[in-house]
Amino acid sequence: MTQTQLFPSPAWPTVPVNGTSASYPVHRIFCVGRNYAAHAAEMGVEVDREAPFYFTKSALTLQPTGTTVAYPPGTANFHYEMELVIAIGAPIFKGDLAAAAKAIFGFACGLDMTRRDLQLEARAKQRPWDLGKDVEQSAVVAPITRIGDYASIGDQRIHLEVNGEVKQDARLSDLIWKVEEIVSHLSNYYHLQPGDLIMTGTPAGVGAVVPGDVITGGIDGLEAVSLTVGPAE
Ligand code: MN
Repeated sequence: MTQTQLFPSPAWPTVPVNGTSASYPVHRIFCVGRNYAAHAAEMGVEVDREAPFYFTKSALTLQPTGTTVAYPPGTANFHYEMELVIAIGAPIFKGDLAAAAKAIFGFACGLDMTRRDLQLEARAKQRPWDLGKDVEQSAVVAPITRIGDYASIGDQRIHLEVNGEVKQDARLSDLIWKVEEIVSHLSNYYHLQPGDLIMTGTPAGVGAVVPGDVITGGIDGLEAVSLTVGPAE
């Protein structure tokens, strides 16, 4: 018997892939916390060098670059975070560093938009970060560049501007946990699959935006990401 659904299911969001007409469907979005020492310091915490830690955003928070998103409800401190995004391209579970390197499909520029006031309130009360981080329309990801089309991760510049003024300016070599280390470590807890994105954390210089602000971000060799902050809902 064919079953019908009570209501329509949204399609998985997708990200374009440079050099191909095929798109990359996104099933999960993992995010690394505190992966640049200078950002951890500005947040008033120390880096945990024992192991990376994670939070997640629903795939349905994904937005394409160039979009305008509403200033979200429940916050007075909406922050940008510029990040390198890893796209997984092959299954990996409990994989070592070599397996992790092989499981990476490509890289993209991304923005982890954050209700900072709610994140910090949750942190202080030792509660989960969902209200601060799993914000509707808060994961903005630019087209993916396949790993074979990209230089190895080195000292590429990662930067973000608000209305043209540079706010974040660092190097990928500042990443505490390298991309293979992140993929390998996370694969101890999840059966990572194609469709999984990992936002690798943000450098120092995070800050608030207001309606009308235009955010642009880039990483050497990758397609830039941008976002316009719309009126409050
Ligand atoms: Mn982040």
